[in-house]
Amino acid sequence: MDIERDNSGDECDRADYFIESVIDDHVKEAMRKANEIPLGNPGECDMCGDYFSRLVNGACGFCRDKYVV
Ligand SMILES: [Zn+2]
Repeated sequence: MDIERDNSGDECDRADYFIESVIDDHVKEAMRKANEIPLGNPGECDMCGDYFSRLVNGACGFCRDKYVV
């Protein structure tokens, strides 16, 4: 019984470690992308045509959220 419990614990620990490492990669990737994002400029969005005080690569935040994964 003790051995079974220990085994499931190990699997749990491995799963947690795996998830944490995946999240860590995502955080690093997000930080890398955030560092690459320029401050942006005001203007009309290339995608929706509305005026925004801050465009990045010609797209407003809404369009970037919608189309950039
Ligand atoms: Zn837009």
